[in-house]
Amino acid sequence: PGPARALLEVRGLSKSFGGNHAVDDCTFTVPEGSITALIGPNGSGKTTVFNLVSGTLLADRGEILLDGERVDRVAPWGRAHRGVGRTFQITRLFREMTVLENIVTPLRSFSIPRLGVPAVSGAEASRAMELLDFVGLAAYRDVRAGSLSYGQQKLIELAQVLMLDPKLIMLDEPAGGINPTLIERMGDLIRDLNRQGKTFLLVEHNMPFVLGLCDPIRVLAKGHVIAEGDPDRIQKDPAVIDAYLGD
Ligand code: ADP
Repeated sequence: PGPARALLEVRGLSKSFGGNHAVDDCTFTVPEGSITALIGPNGSGKTTVFNLVSGTLLADRGEILLDGERVDRVAPWGRAHRGVGRTFQITRLFREMTVLENIVTPLRSFSIPRLGVPAVSGAEASRAMELLDFVGLAAYRDVRAGSLSYGQQKLIELAQVLMLDPKLIMLDEPAGGINPTLIERMGDLIRDLNRQGKTFLLVEHNMPFVLGLCDPIRVLAKGHVIAEGDPDRIQKDPAVIDAYLGD
């Protein structure tokens, strides 16, 4: 078989903050059906790339294509409608709302803004329960989200993202700050969703997690992709070793 089609294509993307070239002529693809990792030292531009792809930041230059269509000037909610879902490094749940309320919230905030917030339908509520069950937290549906552990909150965020049924799921440090049992569950859920056809792009610092789960890997340094390939190749790449040692 030939190379997989790119679900996401980033071409010559650049973003500066003042004189700081956070993302600098960045080019990479996320093959359809892959679990792709974006790694790199602190400050290499990973979060900025996430923000540019999800649309919370606008690029200075470059193109972002989803399924071959330009989305780089589309508003964040429009990109969500076209199939881009993401989580954040620090969870953004409404701590005072219940777990179930949190899961149905993105649907409402991403529905047509001019029409305001529609009520949650029975179908939405039952889908939310299915997803809670999927992440293993059905028993917590009526619990205040803020009372859950950080790892559980990350699983709730995954369920929240799935509510929009995205084609591309972008996870910002899914294994960061969570215990080994939940890291394993997170990895199993990602694999399971991938088998169901979901494509992933994840930023992650936990190298054993990345090397065991992701292929291909894109390595950023100073906002630019300096290496790409499968885990074996990346681990042996002198440019990658240099970039990390120079951190
Ligand atoms: P990473 O996620 O790889 O740690 P970031 O994308 O957060 O990297 O940051 C890349 C560079 O851009 C860093 O030098 C950071 O200080 C800078 N940066 C990121 N966001 C902003 C911002 N909103 N304003 C100014 N500088 C920023």
